Amino acid sequence: MATQPVLFIGHGSPMNAVEDNAWSRAWRDLGRRLDKPRAILCVSAHWQTPGVLLGAAEKPRTLHDFGGFPPALYRIEYPAPGDPALAARVAAMLDPALDAQLDPEYGLDHGAWQVLLHLFPEADIPVVQLSLDLRRPGPQHFAIGRMLAPLRDEGVLVVASGNIVHNLGLLDWRDDTPPAWAIAFRDRVNGLIAAGDFAALADVESLPDNRLAVPTPEHYLPLLYALALARPGDPLEIFNDDVWSTLSMTSLAIGMPAGVTAT
Ligand code: ZN
Repeated sequence: MATQPVLFIGHGSPMNAVEDNAWSRAWRDLGRRLDKPRAILCVSAHWQTPGVLLGAAEKPRTLHDFGGFPPALYRIEYPAPGDPALAARVAAMLDPALDAQLDPEYGLDHGAWQVLLHLFPEADIPVVQLSLDLRRPGPQHFAIGRMLAPLRDEGVLVVASGNIVHNLGLLDWRDDTPPAWAIAFRDRVNGLIAAGDFAALADVESLPDNRLAVPTPEHYLPLLYALALARPGDPLEIFNDDVWSTLSMTSLAIGMPAGVTAT
């Protein structure tokens, strides 16, 4: 089985689940170019736990974990099966000191399904979620990502889902013009990604303007899991590289097969 690439998707508003826009179209285009994986491991901004958990439901429920959106969004179901055996395999792959546990109850949150329903509309690929233990600093999340390295050779596509710049408190719904600091943060992160300086990216609290761009870490941290799985020589493609007010949609495809270019 061919080595799987790794994705980081800037997911933005839950409305991207139902809207046909440039971002959701790019996710659909990317999905058509991917070799169908055996399973998906999703690291979503929206599953934050004390301790490291793996979703191990046979049939994960579609979680509508947001408020104030139109009824259509609450009717969406993404009925992908779970894969409890994979959840156990991933838990065993992690350093025993992390004491990763299986959670047979957690479903799929919108950080997972709002992206997966565009990438894989048929919902026929098993999905397992890995939680974010927010007590840990960035470098430890990067280290956990490194422990997942064998998955790429086992037909498992890792999909990390968050947003690099994510400040909802300062978001202006009426004027999407990004502030200068948001553009600068996006550009700085893109530069560090291109330079392969992942250690600087893991140390997010040392990046200029991090308190504006990353006021809370949960949407940024999934990026570190994707970067941790990059291998020397992997092509690295940045797409959806837009900043909408104080939210960046920047997404990454790492290790896509030669000749395949994300738009
Ligand atoms: Zn989100």
